[in-house]
Amino acid sequence: MKYVVCVPDGCADEPVEVLGGRTPLQAAHTPVLDALAARGEVGRAAVIPTGMPPGSDVGNMSIFGYDPGRFHTGRAPIEAAALGLRLDPDQVAFRCNLVTVGDDGTMADFAGGHPSTEDAAAVIARLQDALGTDEVTFHPGVQYRHIVVAPAAWADADCVPPHDLSDKPVILPSGPAAPKLQAIMDASREVLADARADGSPVTANQVWLWGQGSQPVMTPFRDAFGVDAGLVTEVDLVRGLGVLTGLDIIEVEGATGWYDTNYEGLRDAALAGLEAGADLFIIHVEATDEAGHAGDVDEKVRALENWDRRILAGLVEGLDAMGDWRLLLLPDHATPVRLKTHTSDPVPYLLVDSRHDGPGGVYTEDGVADADAVPGHSLMARLIS
Ligand SMILES: [Zn+2]
Repeated sequence: MKYVVCVPDGCADEPVEVLGGRTPLQAAHTPVLDALAARGEVGRAAVIPTGMPPGSDVGNMSIFGYDPGRFHTGRAPIEAAALGLRLDPDQVAFRCNLVTVGDDGTMADFAGGHPSTEDAAAVIARLQDALGTDEVTFHPGVQYRHIVVAPAAWADADCVPPHDLSDKPVILPSGPAAPKLQAIMDASREVLADARADGSPVTANQVWLWGQGSQPVMTPFRDAFGVDAGLVTEVDLVRGLGVLTGLDIIEVEGATGWYDTNYEGLRDAALAGLEAGADLFIIHVEATDEAGHAGDVDEKVRALENWDRRILAGLVEGLDAMGDWRLLLLPDHATPVRLKTHTSDPVPYLLVDSRHDGPGGVYTEDGVADADAVPGHSLMARLIS
């Protein structure tokens, strides 16, 4: 038996006026997905537990089969794992964005002008030289997304994600550890100004610390579910979940995390991993979420059609050639194009078993509107049972 989990990140949505009141899932031409839904089981999954933030970290942890209420400690430690960092029990990781705060005190750019990874790494090295200590260390990541490791007591602060502050007055950290965080953020302004004076093209003018947490202790996937699993993804966050759960992570050339990603390459890497002996593969693709954040209805519909034509069609063919299979498909949260951000609403899921036809249904938000929402993390066990 082979198992596949398909994650079109953020694909769920709301009715959209320019689509005649349909959602992107309803409007997209997806004959393969439609046929799978007709022979499978559709339902609604609460991938974001009540009271938790609707982030990809929480939603994907649910999809991986781990209850975020039990295992989620923060976003940063998952990304730290993707960078190969192991945290000691007396340490926490913070996300360290390079950001641009305007003279008027508003968050002008939470992505700090989108520096190149290379230019950013040079700036992070300067921050480490100037502000790093035995206890506090700066670690370069991708573009504007970096990590600071600090003593565990520093976690005791409320930090607002910078992307929630876009064009708004900044909200500084609060709580017992806030002065320590604020001191780093303040001191970073001078370091970044010096870097610019020395010719660095990085236009960000300070760092922003948030998303902190200790390293989550996650049962290895093999022990939790009894199967060997692999992962293809384009983003560090999901890669980090793979590291923390001991998945075999396959890198795919041309997997950009953007609309132009290598859909066939992601599909074929998963099929090759299954042929080579893996029992289960997770295929996570970001384009649907990016289109949601951009408010771009056309790209969201196109990304779903790409999923259908460039992943699902060949995937089903490849799985059929290998024997019996089961498939689970669902997003980690909704990213409605109207809102350009994530919501906590339950999302539609699809379960298909190649051996047995299910009750059949329609894989859209409307198609599952009457179903009771099941906990998102329960679906992995159902897929494998
Ligand atoms: Zn997501």
